[in-house]
Amino acid sequence: MVEAPRTGENSDAIALGLIGDEWNLAIVRLAIVGGVRRYKDFRDRLGIANSVLTARLRHLTEAGVFTRAQYADAPRRYEYVLTRRGRDLWKVLLTIASWEAEWVGEHSEPLPPLLHTECGQEFAPVMRCRTCGEPAGLRDVHAAIGPSGGFQRSVPRVATRRRSTAGSAGPGLVPQTIELIGNRWSAAALAAALFGARRFTDMLTMTGAPPTIVADRLRRFCQMGVLTTVTRPGSSRAEYRLTDKGRAFFPHVMMMLEWGDRWFRAPEGPATLLTHTACGREFHPVLHCSACGYELYGTRVLVGRG
Ligand SMILES: [Zn+2]
Ligand SMILES: [Zn+2]
Repeated sequence: MVEAPRTGENSDAIALGLIGDEWNLAIVRLAIVGGVRRYKDFRDRLGIANSVLTARLRHLTEAGVFTRAQYADAPRRYEYVLTRRGRDLWKVLLTIASWEAEWVGEHSEPLPPLLHTECGQEFAPVMRCRTCGEPAGLRDVHAAIGPSGGFQRSVPRVATRRRSTAGSAGPGLVPQTIELIGNRWSAAALAAALFGARRFTDMLTMTGAPPTIVADRLRRFCQMGVLTTVTRPGSSRAEYRLTDKGRAFFPHVMMMLEWGDRWFRAPEGPATLLTHTACGREFHPVLHCSACGYELYGTRVLVGRG
């Protein structure tokens, strides 16, 4: 277990830092979907620069997503094997793929359809509450700051720096997901919107981010169609509202936080306390098939034509 220091990044930030990097996503996806383990295969399949791949594999191994296993003696060679923590990311990849397929039309290559082998149909994941089994959306989940929570600890510290020094933003497979979560201030602004901030001043207070940066992110979110502005009668100030597209990103955020909490929970407790308002219990998301209604398991979900 990697333990977060008490004043440093919490599980939300660790998860965001790992998942908000498009090369990390591409590498893990290839490992989960394609069974790829070897450095050369990652490099050839992704067309990724050696320096970028080496840095990402090191980071993912340090984070316990991969473990290195020796497969040759002379010269000594290692392959990268997904751990349980790494395999568990299939839910995160699935919610990203589903959102991008439904809401984004600017991919470098078309996203393959999602097939559920149990029912044989194309599907989208539907998020439900593990305790009561009812569907759960943004309006059904109440979020509060947990013992290791707070905006300052919930956004990754190094994401922006790592991105700029690593030289390559990513392969362009899930561009809008990365725009939303691939930068600490974007992630903070999105979280503020999901937590109910509507006015610019509320966004500033919640995120603690510089005003010019918050203004820039909100403008971009509006261009992407994730937020829209509304001016109430009698008021001169615009308020920001999530659109259907913005609300549809919520399951992905839940899967990401759940993954972080499961594998990186701080000693003092969770970063974010989630309650399912319908049943009043702690909220843990599970994904079901939109076509047949059964719960989804990683091995029974195929991406593409198999
Ligand atoms: Zn429930
Ligand atoms: Zn199904």
